[in-house]
Amino acid sequence: MTTPQTNFIGINVSGTQARAALVNSEGKLIESKVAEVTPKQLTPQLATMVEELRAGGRSVAAIGVAIPGLVNRQTDRVIAPRDLPKTMVGDLHGELMSATGLRVELENDANAAAYGEFKVGAGLGARNLFYMMIGSGIGGAIILDGKLWTGASGFAGEVGHITIDTEGLECVCGNTGCLETVASAPSIVRRARERLNRDGTSSLSRLALNKSFTAEDVAHQANEGDDFALMMIERTGKYIGTGVASVINLLNIERIVLGGGVMDAGALILNPIIQEVKRRAFQPCFEATEIVAAKLGLDGAPIGAALLARDAATD
Ligand SMILES: [Zn+2]
Repeated sequence: MTTPQTNFIGINVSGTQARAALVNSEGKLIESKVAEVTPKQLTPQLATMVEELRAGGRSVAAIGVAIPGLVNRQTDRVIAPRDLPKTMVGDLHGELMSATGLRVELENDANAAAYGEFKVGAGLGARNLFYMMIGSGIGGAIILDGKLWTGASGFAGEVGHITIDTEGLECVCGNTGCLETVASAPSIVRRARERLNRDGTSSLSRLALNKSFTAEDVAHQANEGDDFALMMIERTGKYIGTGVASVINLLNIERIVLGGGVMDAGALILNPIIQEVKRRAFQPCFEATEIVAAKLGLDGAPIGAALLARDAATD
């Protein structure tokens, strides 16, 4: 039973890192932890993080784990992990339950982050929202009438794979010209590199001095007033805005929350996104939608996973 003293743990596993959060029953963050994880040791490593957060006799009712990849909610299995080895997440659900003695819920990371923003972040006050996570990949999640809407088999919201450019590059999903192929962090770097190589004037950009620049560097230089970097960020905003306009037309949703590392560029990217949505979306839908940046940063997914575990218990 959930009492005000009961806590929940959420863990976001991404690449070689896990970020865990202990939250109270209201979703308030009490403590967080970050640890390196390795494919062969994932379950014991996560169990150790859980033990550390439970230290001092804190009562924990359940654990939520957010995974970059698709989770089948019927079988509690991770299928198609995006940036984790498949062996790493074999039967994570069952193994973590036996290692900790606690109930475990698995969820896709974008879904978890959406739920965190919805309950205690930029989604507060909305009944319906669409969340978009724009980072190394692009994920999305839909909350309708206060509940995560995961679709027929748990995979709804894959906004990164809507087609933006029918003549575009091949995507990891097999389609061509997906939003992810132009607006994810690695795609921003690729597009910037291509342009630096073919356009002489852009070599004035400070990015041309740095052979291994990242999407963060592009955002940083744009903030410093570098014209080329600014143009790259604005164009990225246009692509994202094109995707968001489709979402708005489809769902007539109350709020769009944009998170993930690419949004760290702040207003430099948010403004062109909103302009492009305004230009493309069906006007009455656009006027009914608020487009805002996420608030919880890297804690969004672990907090959301913890709250999903909390609410799964009371459903
Ligand atoms: Zn795709």
